[in-house]
Amino acid sequence: MTAPAASDCDVLVLGLGPAGASAAAAAARAGARVIGLDKRAVPGLPVQCAEFVPLSLGAEVRDLAMDVVQPIEAMASYTEGDGPRLDPLPGHIVDRARFDAHLVETAGAAGADCRFGRVVAEVRDGGVRLTDGSTISARVIVGADGPHSLAGRAIGSVNRVLSHTRQITVPLRVPHRATDIFLSATTPGGYGWLFPKGAVANLGIGVDASERRWLRILLEGLHATLVREDRVGWDVLALTGGAIPAGGLLPPTGSLGATPVLLAGDACGLANPITGAGIASAVISGRMAGEAAAEVLSGRPGAFADYAEEITDVFGPALERARRRRAAVMAAHAAGRLGPTELRRSWIAYESYWDDREAAA
Ligand SMILES: Cc1cc2nc3c(=O)[nH]c(=O)nc-3n(C[C@H](O)[C@H](O)[C@H](O)COP(=O)(O)OP(=O)(O)OC[C@H]3O[C@@H](n4cnc5c(N)ncnc54)[C@H](O)[C@@H]3O)c2cc1C
Repeated sequence: MTAPAASDCDVLVLGLGPAGASAAAAAARAGARVIGLDKRAVPGLPVQCAEFVPLSLGAEVRDLAMDVVQPIEAMASYTEGDGPRLDPLPGHIVDRARFDAHLVETAGAAGADCRFGRVVAEVRDGGVRLTDGSTISARVIVGADGPHSLAGRAIGSVNRVLSHTRQITVPLRVPHRATDIFLSATTPGGYGWLFPKGAVANLGIGVDASERRWLRILLEGLHATLVREDRVGWDVLALTGGAIPAGGLLPPTGSLGATPVLLAGDACGLANPITGAGIASAVISGRMAGEAAAEVLSGRPGAFADYAEEITDVFGPALERARRRRAAVMAAHAAGRLGPTELRRSWIAYESYWDDREAAA
């Protein structure tokens, strides 16, 4: 399966985060000539993540242990200051920069040509144009370029509902093995979090995009509370943030003229609209997109439609429940009646989140 002389590669992967690196590895392993492009100077930096991954990701990522900083055993949910309610939730806190670099190394070892410091300006039939004016031609495009995906925009799949986040890294005073979640009417469409990472912790807040102007002051308030409780220190060791798609699943495939385009990860809205978790779904969907792209090139065009169907089957139901729960929170916020009952109904730890009668409401 080699590209005709006219094409620079068989599969062009736009974005080399978890989804893109996984897609590049899978397509290269299947024999495709792969070029991956990312605007970042180096893989994974700057980190825009609270760095929690579920235990099950170990089945998908070989040598995940190399990237793990500490284990997580439980989730502690606080609603308007009450609690915590403790639920088992085994997982890991990873070093996200190392994790992303590790996935890119794996893609490179499989034969993908991963290029950094390359900004794509346009995605079009037959390939992409970079901001430096150069072009790269391809037979299939995988769009793994995150929540503001250019590839998605080119085929009409656009994340229109977003959460915005602000996160600081602070010293952790007391070793901790749970991810703490703070639900409050002041953070509609999101929540506060304290995720321990060895001697430090990622402390952040996410809210609906319409409320992002409050992020700084809300995070300062949460930080001050946790300092008073002697759980974390005053020092701010790092500051980050970013957008998370929160509108649910978008159509994961489309075409630009004769060129098939497959979207993976945040580009097709796979981050959970309630929890914001998107690393695992990015890795899994990226691998599936890379495999499907290679299959299409091997003469099985049906792999393209199968990809869309599988993504919908695997991720659709959980995303749809979360999308509805988040929409209900935003409606309650708009009506001025967002309180503990609505907040609990919008969080995965509480029974009412999983109640289908509630979901249909
Ligand atoms: C503050 C914060 C905390 C989070 N915490 C967690 C968490 O604890 N656990 C979890 O599971 N998820 C978390 N998430 C979500 C998670 O980070 C994403 O769901 C995940 O990164 C999606 O992977 P991706 O590969 O689809 O996209 P991304 O990781 O966004 O990768 C997209 C890549 O595309 C590149 N790119 C974009 N546009 C272009 C262009 N025009 N040209 C070239 N390159 C381009 C970018 O540079 C980037 O490297 C968090 C998100 C935020 C913002």
